[in-house]
Amino acid sequence: MSELKKIGFVGTGIMGSAMVGHLLDAGYEVSVFNRTKSKAQPLIERGARWCETAGDCAKGQDVVITIVGYPKDVEQVYLAAGGIVDSAKTGAYLVDMTTSSPIVAEKIYAAAKAKNLHAVDAPVTGGDTGAKNATLTIFVGGDEADFNALKPVFDVLGKNIVHEGGAGAGQKTKISNQIALAGALAGVCEAFAYAKSAGLDLEKVFAAISKGSASSAQMSDIVSRGLLDGNFNPGFMLKHLGKDLAIGNETATAYGQALPILAVVLHELRQMENSGHGSEGTQALLKYYGVKD
Ligand code: NAP
Repeated sequence: MSELKKIGFVGTGIMGSAMVGHLLDAGYEVSVFNRTKSKAQPLIERGARWCETAGDCAKGQDVVITIVGYPKDVEQVYLAAGGIVDSAKTGAYLVDMTTSSPIVAEKIYAAAKAKNLHAVDAPVTGGDTGAKNATLTIFVGGDEADFNALKPVFDVLGKNIVHEGGAGAGQKTKISNQIALAGALAGVCEAFAYAKSAGLDLEKVFAAISKGSASSAQMSDIVSRGLLDGNFNPGFMLKHLGKDLAIGNETATAYGQALPILAVVLHELRQMENSGHGSEGTQALLKYYGVKD
């Protein structure tokens, strides 16, 4: 275990709950806060201490970890009066693992530095399964010394942990990941829409093409959950992928980079959100393509 023993954790949703579980199992003293308290209850029963606000959850901790929903949630928990930056003790490490904007990450880094706090952005990939199995990939932006100090904590949560560069570099890498994922996801949906319209047996198509050069983690996950099991519960919510691609779209414009595939998938996701599918898993994109009802 790390020298850093006391952890405040904000955001005990799909990802955060599993991550707190691993930190408790590893012997860390964990305090938790979540907007909806009931989602933290199983962790409280396992020994986590409940706090009434994000700021309270930061007080006296060696490390504060957040994995909330959107950039606006990140700004609120860190930068609002009485929030994490206001409340953390001098020298504490602040780790945002939400997929959020690199601009917000840079803002938090600067606000933290001004108060002698160490902030890193450390978004993850690997999905709900990666969180449950502690096999997440973690992309870290911030100072290298802070990355090194936090590495034992990251090792409890993930397997492939990379320092990508300065503040915001973790988020920029995560958005690159999401751009690749979006193309793979839509490609899988389109392939199965084609196979369905061609009158093929979709299980047999999956059995064949999931073993060839078109195989991908997206294909295995989307098809087995959505197509074979008819399960649209979220591992990764469709509206969160929409949020990630919107960040990609905005920042790419600032970088002068055109991303035509991202634009198409973002449009599809927005249509799905507008028709009430935003809180389903990303496998629900199969419905957009008419592969499932
Ligand atoms: P989630 O289940 O919605 O969890 C987020 C949790 O944060 C929710 O429980 C939410 O509270 C809480 N929260 C939001 N704003 C808050 C605030 N201001 N104060 C306190 N708590 C707040 O979502 P998730 O799937 O765990 O994803 C979390 C983040 O990780 C997202 O940015 C997502 O894009 C990213 N991510 C997800 C996956 C995945 O596979 N699920 C993979 C990689 C990255 P409520 O309970 O009230 O909603």
